[in-house]
Amino acid sequence: MNGVNASARVLAGALVLGLALVVGGGPAIQRAAAHPAGQAAPTEQTAPAKADQEQQALGRLAQCGLEGERAQALWDAADGERRRELLVITQAPGWLDYLQFDFSWLERLERYEAYHAQHPEITAEEAVVRVNIGLDLPPYADPEVVEDPDSLTALVNQYHALPADYVPELVELDAVYTNQRDTLRPVAYAAFADMVRGAAREGLRLYNVSAYRSYAAQQWVYQRWANQDGAEEADTYSARPGCSEHQTGLVLDINVASTDAHFEETAEYAWLKENCWRYGFLLRFPEGKEEITGYRFEPWHYRYVGVETARLCWERGWTLEEYAARQSAPPWGRGT
Ligand SMILES: [Zn+2]
Repeated sequence: MNGVNASARVLAGALVLGLALVVGGGPAIQRAAAHPAGQAAPTEQTAPAKADQEQQALGRLAQCGLEGERAQALWDAADGERRRELLVITQAPGWLDYLQFDFSWLERLERYEAYHAQHPEITAEEAVVRVNIGLDLPPYADPEVVEDPDSLTALVNQYHALPADYVPELVELDAVYTNQRDTLRPVAYAAFADMVRGAAREGLRLYNVSAYRSYAAQQWVYQRWANQDGAEEADTYSARPGCSEHQTGLVLDINVASTDAHFEETAEYAWLKENCWRYGFLLRFPEGKEEITGYRFEPWHYRYVGVETARLCWERGWTLEEYAARQSAPPWGRGT
């Protein structure tokens, strides 16, 4: 890294910091009024202490490359809680490496730093993305409940679980699209039917072998594998109940559902790999992304997310985890 780039990066970080502080000023005031139990309310400071803080903060900001009116405006716009955050951050300018992205979570700074220290070969951006995915924590340790399970981009994995009672709107697949009685969400079914017709024009046949799976059904599936191979092994290819995307009604396994079938060697797979995004689908567990998704390569498992998201992920080579990890962080100051 050369000096010019480093300064530019630090400055960019400081500017993002400034913007977030200014933009986030409103909600922070409300949050500051309601301190969670166990967290002390800020104590009133005397005037000299406040002036010292300001000088200290402005001095630190100047060291980070943010000076003059901009720095002063940033300080003036911040309320008490944010001024403390600003002081904390400016005392550790290295953190600005992780704060230059609009998907950086203030409360995850220490995790970004710790993860990056363990993986110095990756960039600061990659460290932020991976921690946002949750990869610095063990899978299934404490899955978050998915807030909006009906969202087409809802992330469901080892770190994000659907409520046990979540059942999407479902429609039964016509026999020409499936080798068994099965259901999907209408939006995913329509897109799959389109994709089947698109493949047929190339002389290829696609059909469903496993689509919607209820929480209870997944519980049964997972338990069967865990009994056979042990939970640790089963976790690499079968989701625990609530953590299977099949429960969204937006997922289906196409033509096969087994590594032994070597679907990746077929013309159908080659076509899907290049074209599924045009119909709004993602190859959900690609080869080479096992560390990110937590699953081994599944050439048959496709997730509907809508064309816009599917195109973006396809163009950038992102999994749904990497896409979700790059969504804007909540306004700073919010607790985890
Ligand atoms: Zn599947």
